[in-house]
Amino acid sequence: MQTNRPFEYEIPSALTDVVIPGVRVEVGFGRGKRKIQGFVMEVKKTSDFTGKLKPIIRVIDVKPVLSSEMIKLSYWLADRTYSFQISCLQTMLPNVMRAKYKQFIQAAPGFEQDPEVQQLLNGHLLVELTNDTTDEKIKEIAHLKRSEKINIEYVVENQANSLTRQAVTTELSKDALLKSREGLRKNALAQQKLYDYLIKEYDNLPVESSVIEKQNDIARSTLKTAEKNGAVKFVEITKRRKPVGIIPEQQKAPTLTDEQSEAVSKINSAIDSNDPKTFLIEGVTGSGKTEVYLQTMQQALNQGKTALMLVPEISLTPQMVNRVVGRFGDQVAVLHSGLSSGERYDEWSRIEDGSVKVVVGARSAVFAPLKNIGIIIIDEEHEASYKQDDNPRYHARDVASWRSKFHKEPLVLGSATPSLESRARAEKGVYQMISMKKRINDHPLPHVQIVDMRDAENSAVKGDFSPLLKDNIWRAMKRNEQAIVLLNRRGYSSFLMCRECGFVLKCPNCDVSLTYHKNLGKMKCHYCGHEEPVPHICPNCKSKKIGFYGTGTENIENQLNEMFPEARVLRMDVDTTRRKGSHAAIIKQFGEHQADILLGTQMIAKGLDFPDVTLVGVINADTTLSISDYRASERTFQLLTQVSGRAGRADKEGHVIIQTYNPDHYAIKDAAKQDYETFFKQEMYLRHQSGYTPYYFTTLVSVSHQDEGQALKQSFWLKKQLQAVLSDQAVLLGPSPTMISRKQNKYFYQIIVKYKRGPELHQRLLEILSETQSETKRGFTIAIDNEPQHID
Ligand code: ADP
Ligand code: ZN
Ligand code: ZN
Repeated sequence: MQTNRPFEYEIPSALTDVVIPGVRVEVGFGRGKRKIQGFVMEVKKTSDFTGKLKPIIRVIDVKPVLSSEMIKLSYWLADRTYSFQISCLQTMLPNVMRAKYKQFIQAAPGFEQDPEVQQLLNGHLLVELTNDTTDEKIKEIAHLKRSEKINIEYVVENQANSLTRQAVTTELSKDALLKSREGLRKNALAQQKLYDYLIKEYDNLPVESSVIEKQNDIARSTLKTAEKNGAVKFVEITKRRKPVGIIPEQQKAPTLTDEQSEAVSKINSAIDSNDPKTFLIEGVTGSGKTEVYLQTMQQALNQGKTALMLVPEISLTPQMVNRVVGRFGDQVAVLHSGLSSGERYDEWSRIEDGSVKVVVGARSAVFAPLKNIGIIIIDEEHEASYKQDDNPRYHARDVASWRSKFHKEPLVLGSATPSLESRARAEKGVYQMISMKKRINDHPLPHVQIVDMRDAENSAVKGDFSPLLKDNIWRAMKRNEQAIVLLNRRGYSSFLMCRECGFVLKCPNCDVSLTYHKNLGKMKCHYCGHEEPVPHICPNCKSKKIGFYGTGTENIENQLNEMFPEARVLRMDVDTTRRKGSHAAIIKQFGEHQADILLGTQMIAKGLDFPDVTLVGVINADTTLSISDYRASERTFQLLTQVSGRAGRADKEGHVIIQTYNPDHYAIKDAAKQDYETFFKQEMYLRHQSGYTPYYFTTLVSVSHQDEGQALKQSFWLKKQLQAVLSDQAVLLGPSPTMISRKQNKYFYQIIVKYKRGPELHQRLLEILSETQSETKRGFTIAIDNEPQHID
């Protein structure tokens, strides 16, 4: 924390024009000879530092990697997330810039023959920028870069070799080639083939040698012979990685429905008037939200602005990405986790240099270096994946909101099941609400049935399928339709439930379910630390059928195979999707109807839009209901609503079957009716009663140490510190041990603070972080999470 601030350095006169805010520099740090990389935040004429300033050793970038917007954002982000500003800055940039990389200079297209450029490159295609590059040279390079005559390429060291390729071209005119072709001997078949190729591809030359050899089956020796005869010339070309891949056919915009055009015109007028408003689109699944996103993004582009769109997880939403790329073509950059770091950098620089107008990506894409943003969209805004679990613990929605204000342009949040926080803000008028209640073409919502698993008929079955669900899968198979089966995995097996009455053991103080702690052999509350022994009969109905609940996907897969030996089952869970690209492969296979049943965990609930899917079955709706988190009902409602929306997307009627031990729970009943508003009212009432978000702010502070006694002692010390600054309205829970209380051989304790207003708390937390810095060296750490998404 002492180092969490800018440091002052002298700018050597040779570097005056090059050291500008946003470039990285190498500087000496501390007393020793240690050299580190720093970001230039600001250039000042005078210094308040009384000692002798150290000079900057060298400049790493000849043009800024951080815009003034990003520099500004980093101050806010560090404060908001209680993290080091340097880690915020690094989070904004592609990894390559942290890794070992090389920098190369090359001529910008059209400037290959420029005398200044030629002098710099000295006959080479690429020139590496190294530590030995003189200050004079750096200045020259910076000048050429500013006049856009050259480009800088970053290449991760072990990928540096792949940047240039050998290619084939010709110095002959097309006519001359044709003449030579006629002059070839009749039996020189290989040469004829090569000449024909060169004539056909004349305008596309040079072409990579490997392409000619592999794809067109022309031997190396054939090329060499042609080179000797003066028909072919070998040259070097540079190759930029193109991660977007095949661009789907351009798709035209459909005529909007009334609800859609109303939404579009509201948002467009905010774009037109530079109004940094936040809109919340609450629209049932299939109401056409995506089309609203596309047309408002178009509006931004029409005005010469750019558009940023966030989706929860690219690999799970390939259809959404295809629609965006289908509409905007190669103006789109897609930032997804499957990109290699080199590809990610390439996309980043395409965005940075303005060749891209639209960015689609998951959480970290919120830092995309787009300039002149005209609209920011967050689809499925309620998703927990928008919050980063590690430092800096930022929520993409907060960053998007900051950028929306910075650019003075609207932010659009969309969901069928908005987060309670967002919906509550719309209620108060902080966000402007747009509701879309109708499905496109008045397509009916799927027919949903709740199955009470406590019924004799259902509790008698051996496996996990009720007769009703089994029967419906059978019918779907018979009609050659597809089914999705969801196994709700989150939090499974760590909670206790009665199979007779559905009872779940809860904390008497906190209204969240207790979690089983294996090492203690006890049930424990993660919020307040309350603990009690594991009951062996149900406290509610005295049944002995109380126990840990949970089934694995593999087990369900076996049951499906046994019941429906002819059905082709695809399984999608953490085990089958570990390999890169396997998500997309499974989704593609299912989409092409190469399988009949898609069985999976939470990851199958989102965004799939396949016409043959007419049945969705939920094996165990209760599991998310029982996680020890005050968002349990909200998560359950969202999951069930989302997964139900997968059935009956086209003209065939959809059917959903939800199995549960809590058929009367409002989250399950409201989800069955796809009735968000009723759910919202009920849940708000309960949050109010128990004092949770959005009625209170929540901050989670966790403390860890290798010695359990130390961790506990420190957490009590911390509690005392916080109590001193909190008002009577605030509530402090804990310290309590967390679920995995011995991660990396450390003991974790957490304190939950719920409060209405907390400037003093914020200040005190920042101070505590700074004060405890020296303790960190002794293995003691504090982590602060503003508005946590999970409490475990
Ligand atoms: P949501 O994102 O709200 O779930 P989608 O945008 O996926 O809904 O729309 C559902 C379906 O309706 C999609 O197949 C989409 O192509 C189609 N669609 C959307 N808007 C229109 C429209 N105005 N006219 C015809 N079809 C539309
Ligand atoms: Zn409790
Ligand atoms: Zn019971």
